[in-house]
Amino acid sequence: MQRAADVLRRSKTIVFFSGAGISAESGIPTFRDKLTGLWAKHDPQRLETADAFRDNPALVWGWYLWRRHQVSGAKPNAAHLCIPRFQDAGWEVSVITQNIDDLHERAGSLDVVHVHGSLMGAKCFACHRPGELTPDQLRVSEEGQWIEPPRCEHCNERLRPGVVWFKEKMPEDAWRSAVRLVRDCDVLISVGTSGVVMPAAGIPEMALAAGAAVIHVNLEEVGWVGADEIMLKGSAGVVLPELLLAVGGGDNVTA
Ligand code: NAD
Repeated sequence: MQRAADVLRRSKTIVFFSGAGISAESGIPTFRDKLTGLWAKHDPQRLETADAFRDNPALVWGWYLWRRHQVSGAKPNAAHLCIPRFQDAGWEVSVITQNIDDLHERAGSLDVVHVHGSLMGAKCFACHRPGELTPDQLRVSEEGQWIEPPRCEHCNERLRPGVVWFKEKMPEDAWRSAVRLVRDCDVLISVGTSGVVMPAAGIPEMALAAGAAVIHVNLEEVGWVGADEIMLKGSAGVVLPELLLAVGGGDNVTA
């Protein structure tokens, strides 16, 4: 912790790079958590592909509506809330997230780069134009259900969630912004990501190659930690407030 605080004190720009683990303490399951109810027999990674949507659009649309519903009922936790506090304490702060929830925005972070898209948007499966959803189309039962997706107002094909599925490319503008931020930062703080979903998972390596220090915050040791890397083991909602306190960034942050 002391080493991480020293590195931060010598730096001006911080990029926070977050994964599903940062939202776990808000009650949003990561890929490793067991699913319950209607989804218990499904592997989420199998629901998150264009092929799955083609095979069973109502299953996949229902799964994403249920996740959106789950996120709407969740609140940002201390880890999300800490990030804008680093900005208040004088650092230039950016956020790149693999998450499709909006908890960073609701915690007050601005211009969050979503490299895997967002649960809050929808677009046409065929013509890719964005689609608007009415409150009625967002309704889903507590445990989730299969729901036939609404149709695109332009071409009448099905709408799909505005997220990046496995085997799909990341949105070019988001990826370009992420690369620029990572190459220009002094410190990258990678929070709650297993580092297995490429190419986003290559971001810490990109930061190291550009001369930045990398601080990992995770419940588990994440891979090999080299000379310019620091591992802070623990839950994000505890470790980030401790780090903020260690650099003199004000009072303890709680959710
Ligand atoms: P992952 O599920 O593969 O890994 C989660 C990581 O977070 C693990 O390394 C785990 O040890 C760590 N972790 C769990 N709880 C933690 C906590 N309280 N504090 C700190 N670390 C904690 O997630 P990933 O690396 O983000 O990659 C998989 C993909 O999952 C991403 O593309 C993302 O889009 C998607 N996803 C997003 C959400 C979301 O939007 N909230 C939820 C599930 C999956």
